[in-house]
Amino acid sequence: MRILTGLQPSGKLHVGNYFGAMQPAVKLQDEGDAFYFIANYHAMNTSENADELRENVREMAVDFLACGLDPAKATFFRQSDVPEVNELAWILSTVCPMGLLERCHSYKDKIAKGFSPNHGLFAYPVLMAADILLYDSNVVPVGKDQKQHVEVTRDLAGKINDKFGKDLLVMPESQIRENTAVVPGLDGQKMSKSYGNTLPIFGPKKKMRKLIMGIKTDSTPVEEPKPIEGSIIIDLYKLFASEADVEQMKADFLAGGFGYGDLKGRLWEAYWEFFAPMREKRDELIADPSYVDRVLAEGAEKARAEAAVVLQRVRKAVGLI
Ligand code: ATP
Ligand code: MG
Repeated sequence: MRILTGLQPSGKLHVGNYFGAMQPAVKLQDEGDAFYFIANYHAMNTSENADELRENVREMAVDFLACGLDPAKATFFRQSDVPEVNELAWILSTVCPMGLLERCHSYKDKIAKGFSPNHGLFAYPVLMAADILLYDSNVVPVGKDQKQHVEVTRDLAGKINDKFGKDLLVMPESQIRENTAVVPGLDGQKMSKSYGNTLPIFGPKKKMRKLIMGIKTDSTPVEEPKPIEGSIIIDLYKLFASEADVEQMKADFLAGGFGYGDLKGRLWEAYWEFFAPMREKRDELIADPSYVDRVLAEGAEKARAEAAVVLQRVRKAVGLI
């Protein structure tokens, strides 16, 4: 079973990304033949300049390896190291109705957010379809927001297969991550880069501590019981602490006698400790850039070999050779 996931290299990874996307991806590398790529062609749509793009790709690679992606299990590569994907995207675009793309929410959302409506943003789902179909992917784990794009992929695969041969492209299934909870941000809204309320996975100790100690709380006096319902402190603590520690924290909220500073301090410690092994791994990776280069080069080679087979099959079937 081939599992495929693309990762957008856009800025610092946060705790929401970790629990919503990275941790599930790391688990999945044991369940099938995982292909994970850093979507740098896609990121060009919103990236400011070349150095920023390069830097973000590098950081994404390091962070993902630090968080447990194992290159011995998963094939890990940069999207642009397999330029064949552009040829398949072109072939798909020749059967793709404009209306299909005009209906895509993420395009409409980006425009509403003020991005200029360029062709790259509009055609994003076609390139994503090529990303998936180029590797005969069976399963595509996605958040709910990406479900529609996998539907577009299936639609395009169906059109190609109808026209050129029924088993030409493998029909992928989306696997929606229903059970990963939405991680709250430091202000209680969904944690999201665009809300500026994130807790990064990796960041300087003092600054991270300040972020957590700065969580806004109500003015219940130290000795009074504190509400546990909807508490961001508890909701975040649950991600990092054992069940027993969470119960203790709740009990201390309800008992009174503990100030918010104390309770936030416990959250801080649990967070810092949770990511300690990953932080250590990350420092090693940063100290050895050639290792990361090698991982990406080997991943690219494997991915490219797979892609060549599929593309050759398609080129024959559509009459290009
Ligand atoms: P943006 O604000 O640009 O949308 P983001 O911070 O929401 O950025 P994305 O790049 O949209 O991050 O998301 C990357 C992955 O992380 C997706 O799979 C998404 O489902 C997951 N994710 C993002 N935020 C959260 C969150 N708060 N809780 C759980 N999962 C999340
Ligand atoms: Mg988002």
